[in-house]
Amino acid sequence: MASLETLRLQFQQRYGRAPRLFSAPGRVNLIGEHTDYNEGFVLPMAIERRTHVAAAPRADRRIRVFSQEMNEAAEFELSADLQPLEGKPSGAWVNYVRGVAACLDNDWFTLGGADLFITSDVPLGAGLSSSAALEAAVGFALLSVSEQSGSLLNVALALQKAEHEFAGTQCGIMDQYIACLGQADHALLIDCRSLGCENVPLQLGEARIVICNSGVRHALASGEYNTRRAECAEGVRRLAQHLPGIQSLRDVAIEEFDQIAQILPDAIRRRCNHVITENTRVAYAVDALKRGDLAFFGKLMTASHESLRHDYEVSCQELDVLVKLALRQPGVYGARMTGGGFGGSTVNLVEAAHINFFVEKVSHEYAKACGITPEILITGAEGGVREDQ
Ligand code: ADP
Ligand code: MG
Repeated sequence: MASLETLRLQFQQRYGRAPRLFSAPGRVNLIGEHTDYNEGFVLPMAIERRTHVAAAPRADRRIRVFSQEMNEAAEFELSADLQPLEGKPSGAWVNYVRGVAACLDNDWFTLGGADLFITSDVPLGAGLSSSAALEAAVGFALLSVSEQSGSLLNVALALQKAEHEFAGTQCGIMDQYIACLGQADHALLIDCRSLGCENVPLQLGEARIVICNSGVRHALASGEYNTRRAECAEGVRRLAQHLPGIQSLRDVAIEEFDQIAQILPDAIRRRCNHVITENTRVAYAVDALKRGDLAFFGKLMTASHESLRHDYEVSCQELDVLVKLALRQPGVYGARMTGGGFGGSTVNLVEAAHINFFVEKVSHEYAKACGITPEILITGAEGGVREDQ
């Protein structure tokens, strides 16, 4: 993306007045995958890629919006019964904007009309949550120019509702939460049951977070996502016959599970095993980060990938190739798929001195194996949604 000054000028040219500027980050989940909708733990961080929104208020109730990435403009009226396009949820980009406006203009906040100009350097559909970055940047812009303020957690919950009801994705709270509440140089441990969180200092020494975009996204992702949610619910139902009082897989300890796992059909047992062990890995990972034990942190990342591949079965050939290639390189502590799976990105922890070699080698070998040159980002942890000057 070009500079903030360019964005200011583009807004001025389009709408004929000066804007305020807002932005929200994409994210990468370091560990804790498919645990969010099981009321478990996740550990994302905001990345150094952001979605920017220039915005100015209007005297009426109209929202006019332009997305540079889509090279398309849209407009609509704020109203109590604002609906998704054609009355049904879809991934059409305008639905994210309509959903955010509809879900924020509620009991907590009152919005006015606005002109918006969107531009982003978060890759779309790469598993780095460009959708939550868009929602958070648009939401914060609309609130700010309407002179509304409030708890960022309430904003995140409204954004999640927008994604459910307007984009039709039944996502957990992680993406909107980190886009709103991320802190520079910290990962964010989120308890997806209580919605409490802890900022965990990202003490990586000379190591860096390296993200490899596989460049693929297989069509079965959303269908399989819903199947996994149903399998976990079925696991809880069956386990509850022996462990009365459990509400979700979050409530099951590994030792308890190992004793009764044989009552479950094979696929369900493996799904549950992933979620239960992954929650434990998150706890160990936070501890390892606090101690600066990168070797152990990396081992947990790699174990998470193995569990997602074998037990949860949400990896794919391209992600497995990227992880395998990464683990073969010098200076790599750990590697795993990140995000929902069936494509998207991997996250790797790599010693700074080895990164150039890593990028060259992994790009070359992945292109040879899969015919795609991967996009590779090296990133620190950024702050969440904000106004930019
Ligand atoms: P991810 O969140 O992993 O990037 P999603 O499918 O959840 O993938 O979200 C991508 C969708 O979000 C895009 O197809 C588009 O509809 C919307 N989107 C994201 N960023 C922008 C943007 N800058 N302008 C317009 N729409 C965007
Ligand atoms: Mg998304």
